[in-house]
Amino acid sequence: MGLFSSDFSIYPFGELSLENCYPSTTDFQVISTGDGRGVGIKSLRQIRRGHLLCKVSGQLLASRRLHTLEINEAVHMYDPHFTGLLLHSCDPNVFLDMASLELWALKDIVRGDLLCMDYAVTEGTLMRQFACQCGSPNCRLWITGSKEPLNEEGKKFLGQLNCDCDSAVGS
Ligand SMILES: [Zn+2]
Repeated sequence: MGLFSSDFSIYPFGELSLENCYPSTTDFQVISTGDGRGVGIKSLRQIRRGHLLCKVSGQLLASRRLHTLEINEAVHMYDPHFTGLLLHSCDPNVFLDMASLELWALKDIVRGDLLCMDYAVTEGTLMRQFACQCGSPNCRLWITGSKEPLNEEGKKFLGQLNCDCDSAVGS
């Protein structure tokens, strides 16, 4: 992660300097996907699988809300600048370690790739369950937190899909 005069921290906290490996505008860009998924984070550089992308941070809250990530059931990190904007995929290219507050590459990432995590890895319960169109072969089609049941909307959604949904609903 080179330090250039054009480097700006994505976080608006001056203390979180770029030297400490927090995300910079040289390496990442907040973009609008234009396909209904809303805002996402694009990588502006190549990152090899297994490598650290950056450290992450946020405000600690006692409850879940939009743009929080779960540290544990009672503590949630509010980060509307970076991690809270990561898109979901059932076949993610990044892993958010909420114990060390680090973002790691699960796959080789090339310049221009959108960063996607699996929300069920960090979240026991989601603010809102949603239909997934990530397109991966193992797509669960309807996304819930890891510790919550499918809601009525999800049951209806999966019921309407004229397919063998057993593998998608299970796990
Ligand atoms: Zn999916």
